[in-house]
Amino acid sequence: TRKPLVVGNWKMNLDHREATYFVQKLAWLLRDAHFDYDDCDIALLPPFTSIRSVQVLVDADKLNIRYGAQTVSVTAQGAFTGDVSADMLSALGCTYVLVGHSERRRYYADDDALLVDQVRAVLAAGMTPILCVGEGYEERREGIELDYAVGQVDDITRDLSEEDAAKLIVAYEPVWAIGTGLVATPQSAQDAAAAIRQHFTHIYSAETAQKIRILYGGSVTASNATLLMNEAHDMDGFLVGGASLQAEEFASIIRLTL
Ligand code: 13P
Repeated sequence: TRKPLVVGNWKMNLDHREATYFVQKLAWLLRDAHFDYDDCDIALLPPFTSIRSVQVLVDADKLNIRYGAQTVSVTAQGAFTGDVSADMLSALGCTYVLVGHSERRRYYADDDALLVDQVRAVLAAGMTPILCVGEGYEERREGIELDYAVGQVDDITRDLSEEDAAKLIVAYEPVWAIGTGLVATPQSAQDAAAAIRQHFTHIYSAETAQKIRILYGGSVTASNATLLMNEAHDMDGFLVGGASLQAEEFASIIRLTL
């Protein structure tokens, strides 16, 4: 069985001082709630400049909190002004790297060729890619959302070996639900997760498909997490944006995911 995973994508929020405050508070809240870390994986995706501060606290207090980055360079090193390599992230103890978040696709034109290379770079550095997919409002209106999301998964994972595919995490984040307060119904989250898992069953094996964790993202809050978690059985947790910026709310979502 797959362990639930709750990931906080901070986007461009929380500088290193705010990150320090956040992690201390989250650790305290979880301790206070007698949280059993064995029941759920927790991860934070801070901006690059805050990762080191998160690492220092996690190491010092042996917190069972993982962390990672929101994007990564596809090249190993050299004259690529502004970029951060997968090895640099791995050296900071990062576990996860987001690949293909809709904001990256939209504002930075991250395309399929780049995302394929990012998945490879992340895996080669021993980290886990969290591949984000999800339809926009138009596709949903046309009723082609499942084909669209599965197609995005296929575009990026087509040439992956079964062994590498088994290491992936997929985040289904319908674009119309991101930052809008509009959340997918548990049924449509379940339909998307089931369609994505079914796709992996076709391409690889049922065993591999059963291993891959699929998260839901898009306006997740402490008020809708329970319903989504209880009714979307192929969904293994959440990729949380706005509601991951307050330690109290993020801790509530973690507790509700158990
Ligand atoms: P919100 O939770 O703010 O809708 O953002 C979702 C998201 O994009 C997480 O990656």
